[in-house]
Amino acid sequence: MSWGQEIAKRILRNQLDKGQLSHAYLFSSPSSALSKQAALFLAQAVNCGSEAKPCGQCLSCRQIEAGVHADVRQVGPEGASIKLQQIKAILAEAVLTPNVGPYRVFIIEGAELLTREAANALLLTLEEPPSFDLFILTAAGPVLPTIESRCQLLRFPSTGDTSLDTGQEASRLYAEQLLEEIEQTPLSERAKLVDKLEKEDINLAEVLAQLLLIYRDLSLWQLTQETHLIRDAARVERLLPGVAARQVDLLAATEAIIDVQRRLQNNVNKRLALEYLVYSL
Ligand SMILES: [Zn+2]
Repeated sequence: MSWGQEIAKRILRNQLDKGQLSHAYLFSSPSSALSKQAALFLAQAVNCGSEAKPCGQCLSCRQIEAGVHADVRQVGPEGASIKLQQIKAILAEAVLTPNVGPYRVFIIEGAELLTREAANALLLTLEEPPSFDLFILTAAGPVLPTIESRCQLLRFPSTGDTSLDTGQEASRLYAEQLLEEIEQTPLSERAKLVDKLEKEDINLAEVLAQLLLIYRDLSLWQLTQETHLIRDAARVERLLPGVAARQVDLLAATEAIIDVQRRLQNNVNKRLALEYLVYSL
C-alpha cells in the first residue's frame, strides 16, 4: 500500500467511524499521482460492499480502479484548464441518485486549473451537495480560496519529500496511527509492526518528531493536568486511556524516542532502533 493510500485510509476510517465523512475533499500534493491514488482509494472505500473497505477485489473496487464505474467520474484539464462545460456536465449528473451507489464520486484532477467560470459553477454545488455526492478535488498548486474553503483540505507529501509543511500533517497522522496499532498489538506480535515500519515509505525522522510531541503532551498532562500546557488536548483525551491501560511509563517512552532519534542520526542499525521504539511506546 502506498503512502497516499495509507493516509487516505486512516483519515477515511477515522471519519467514517465518527460519521464525519465530508462531501468535498481537496487533496493537495506536489505529486499528482499520489493525490490521484488517494482519490481513487477514497472512491473505492465509500462504494465497496465488503467489510474491509476498500477490498480492491469486488466488482465495484475493480471498476473504479479501471475507471469504468458508473458512479465515479474523473475529469481533468482539457488543454490548459478545466472548463465551464466540463463542470456543467458533472453538475448535471450530480443531482441524480447513484446508479449502483451508495455514492456518486466526482474526481476533479488539477483543480488549480479550474477557470473562474468553472469554479463559480462548482461552488454552488460544493456549498450544499446532495447527500449521495462525494467531490474529491486534487491539486498540485494553489486553488481559488472560495473553492478551498468549501472542501476539507488534506496535504500529502510527495514521496521522500522532507518539506515540513506538507510532511508534518502526514507524519502526525502516521504517528497517531502507529500508537493505535501498538495498542492493538500484543507484545508477542510487535515484531510485525517493526517489519511494517522498516518497509514503509515514511519520513521516519518526522514521524519520530511527531511521536515526541505526542508523548510530551501526554506526560505534561499526566504530571500537571494543565490544559494550557498541552498542544492538542483532544488528542491527549483520545490517546491517554490506551496509554494508561498499557501502563506505559511516559517519561521513559519519551526518553526512548529521543534515544531512537539519536541512534538513527548515528546510523545505528535501523531495525534494532525500531524494535526498541516499538517495545518502548
Ligand atoms: Zn471492494
